[in-house]
Amino acid sequence: MEEYEITFWRNKLEKVKKQLEINNFEVYIADNAEEAKSIFFEKIFAVEKPLSVGWGDSMTLHKTLILEELRNNKEINFIDTFDKSLDWKDQIKKRKEALTSDLFLTGSNAVTEKGQLVNLDMVGNRVAAITFGPRKVALFIGRNKIVPNLDEAVSRIKNLAAPLNAARHPNMVTPCKKTSACMDCTSPQRLCNTWVITEKSFPKGRIKIILINEDLGL
Ligand code: SF4
Repeated sequence: MEEYEITFWRNKLEKVKKQLEINNFEVYIADNAEEAKSIFFEKIFAVEKPLSVGWGDSMTLHKTLILEELRNNKEINFIDTFDKSLDWKDQIKKRKEALTSDLFLTGSNAVTEKGQLVNLDMVGNRVAAITFGPRKVALFIGRNKIVPNLDEAVSRIKNLAAPLNAARHPNMVTPCKKTSACMDCTSPQRLCNTWVITEKSFPKGRIKIILINEDLGL
């Protein structure tokens, strides 16, 4: 990336950080996924000292490689909410257990320049955890998730993130996989079921955000 691009995005991230802080989120900026991992372990994990950690699906979170490290940490109860060795019923049990974890990790579908988070879930375990349950929440958000306002957030999610998310699941049957646009479907596998807008973190600092100066996730 050219120097001017780095400066452009750094300035934008700083502005969004300020707005998020006004809204009581605790915010860090990382230059890349690797730095996001270091910030997480030094400023969040080491401070919060969680005994249990759960997570919600996020391609950005996967990029940081944090989950691999936590999975091997014998000092915590790592609640593997997407353990492929478990059947669907037991995976759901894990996702319920994660709602009472000390720390829950995931991403966000969009963040507005006013410092609001916008998320759309299929199952709902991710938006539930962001809203209530886990003692603390850490979100990993790439710069490509920044949008000017709530309307743009909804548009981004429905016209880009959700169809792309459907496309990455080979067994999912939704019309957007063919049209590359939302058809407001009635598919039993519809991904778009529950919207959550998080205007502020309550209590202050419960939700921690690492903004990453890279395009990451959908
Ligand atoms: S509502 Fe259906 S068609 Fe629209 S993005 Fe979601 S899954 Fe795809």
